[in-house]
Order: sequence, then structure tokens, then C-alpha cells
Amino acid sequence: MKEMESANTGPLGLFGNPVEHSFSPLFMNHTLSLLDLNYRYLAFSIQKNELQHAVQALRTLKFRGVNVTIPFKRSVIRHLDHVHEKARTIGAVNCIRNDEGILTGYNTDQTGFIKPLLDRDIRIRDRRALIIGAGGAARAVVTGLVDQSISHMLLLNRTEHNAASLVDWCREELHCNRIEYAGRPSKLEQNVLTSCDLIVNTTPVGMHPATEHSPVPDGLSFSEQQTVYDLIYNPLETRLLKRAREGGAVQLNGFEMLILQGLYSLACWFPQHEKVIFSLQHEIVDYTRQVVTGK
Ligand code: NAP
Repeated sequence: MKEMESANTGPLGLFGNPVEHSFSPLFMNHTLSLLDLNYRYLAFSIQKNELQHAVQALRTLKFRGVNVTIPFKRSVIRHLDHVHEKARTIGAVNCIRNDEGILTGYNTDQTGFIKPLLDRDIRIRDRRALIIGAGGAARAVVTGLVDQSISHMLLLNRTEHNAASLVDWCREELHCNRIEYAGRPSKLEQNVLTSCDLIVNTTPVGMHPATEHSPVPDGLSFSEQQTVYDLIYNPLETRLLKRAREGGAVQLNGFEMLILQGLYSLACWFPQHEKVIFSLQHEIVDYTRQVVTGK
């Protein structure tokens, strides 16, 4: 039952730039109405020099929480009172909770990434992963895979020193040596690709509007034994995922991850509703996909 806005309606939202095309207000408000919670979720486009004031406004305006997206996931940390251990390790916050003026940062991308794999019983323990990209999302991915006892990780990245810094971070922060830099994505060879069970694209290569691109070179192929996970959610089937499907690989896009990081955020803000929030997962995914694709 959808509550009408009233003087008691509480604010929630998204801080980022750009946010105009975000799907988050759509599915977060739908979930809030299913939960019968008198809150509204709005997207705020924020300039770099406005971030500190925007974070202070969370206290003044009594927001229960906000999500944080590109480009503020790292820079927001310095404005918070506390940072949850996982978010501190990853070095990125995508969810802030306000407890009577005390702001705590969390990272729900990591759990949002892993859950679709676990839901499908895709084995991670003792498997080999190929991770493409070495930015913020790659750190959430690596943390999730290490937590699930991945056997070995090969890292491909356009800029070698960014890959080296991720490898160092993995060794120092996660105490995991089972990772190595394997060169630029454009130089990937078939035998290396074939040696990996799980391939994860964490770069924006193939994202709308440049959908003709793929982070894996043309000419390489996938097999039925492999799972290909592209964090991109627009389009739902990237060129990489199309090629994975053609090779018979299991394919996952970033759509469920996007929705799950939102549901984990709602569970963080309203822990008393956690069970109901996760029971709605499939309904929210189907609803959002229908609205976004018209199918
Ligand atoms: P980021 O920190 O800016 O990192 C971007 C990474 O992509 C870097 O490794 C960068 O390589 C690489 N890259 C960028 N443009 C490239 C190009 N043209 N060719 C080759 N490599 C390129 O960004 P991020 O936060 O990690 O996000 C990355 C992607 O993940 C985005 O598409 C984002 O939408 C997606 N994502 C999805 C979800 C979800 O919920 N589904 C959540 C988080 C992120 P260099 O080191 O060489 O610059």
C-alpha cells in the first residue's frame, strides 16, 4: 500500500554525478512502497566542491541514509564519523547510515556482487578467476571472491600501475597472495582465458552508448564450463555477454548486483525489515526489468 507524502515522510537518496539516468529511485521507491515505509528516495547531482555540505545536510535534514556513486565513493569517506570495516578495507563507501547525526559508511557493492553467484550455486571456492579492470568495483569484486575462497585471480588492466596497486592492496589489506597481473585486456590470449572458470568485467567497456566494444579481444571464445559476469547493466546483454552466450557459458549482467546493493542498503537503514526486504528480491528485479525494458 503506497503511503502519500506527508509532513512525516522521511528522506533517502543517492549522491553522485551524473545521476540523471540512474534506475535507483525507480526500484528503491517501489520497494519502499511495498514495505509500506513512509520514506522517499531522490537522486541528487552534486558538484565536487559541494560534497562536504551535502553530507552535512544529511544530519540537518535528518536523512536516514543515502547511497553514494561515481565519483564520490572514495572521497566521501573523509566526511563520515565511522566507516564499517569492510568498506574501509575496500576503500569505498556506497551506503551511508545516519543514526541521530552520527554518519557511518558501508560498502554494499561487494555483497551485491557475490549474491547472484551464490543464488545460482556457481562455485567460487578453489576456482580461477579472470578480473578485467582495477578500479573501485574491482576491489569490491576481489574482496568478495577472496571471502569465498577463490583459488587464484588473474588481473587484466589497461594501466599497469593501477593493476599493481590493486595487487599490492590485495596482499596487504586482504592478506591474499593469490593474485597476479596478467597484462592488458587487449593482449589476452585464448589459453589464459580458457584457464579461468569465472571471468568478471569491471570496466565500463561495452556500456551504453559504445555498445559495439568488448573488453575481451575479438576472436577469443568461451566454453560451457565458464561463467562470464559483466558488471555493466546498460545494455542488459553487452557484446561480451553475447559472445559468452554463443560459447555456451553461464552469463550474468550487473542488473541484479545494482538492485541487490540497493536492497542491502535498505536493510542497513531498516534492519527490522531485513527479512521482508530480501524476500522481495525477485519481485523487485522483475518489476525494474519490466519498467526499464518495456518487456
Ligand atoms: P573506476 O574506479 O573508474 O575504474 C574503471 C576501470 O575500468 C579501470 O580499471 C580502468 O582502467 C578501466 N577502464 C575505463 N575505461 C577503459 C577503457 N576505455 N578501456 C580499458 N579499460 C578501461 O570505475 P568503477 O567504480 O570500478 O566502475 C567500473 C564499472 O563497473 C562501471 O561500468 C560501473 O557502471 C560498473 N559498476 C556496476 C555496479 C553494479 O551495481 N552493477 C556497481 C559498481 C560499478 P585504467 O586503470 O587503465 O584507467
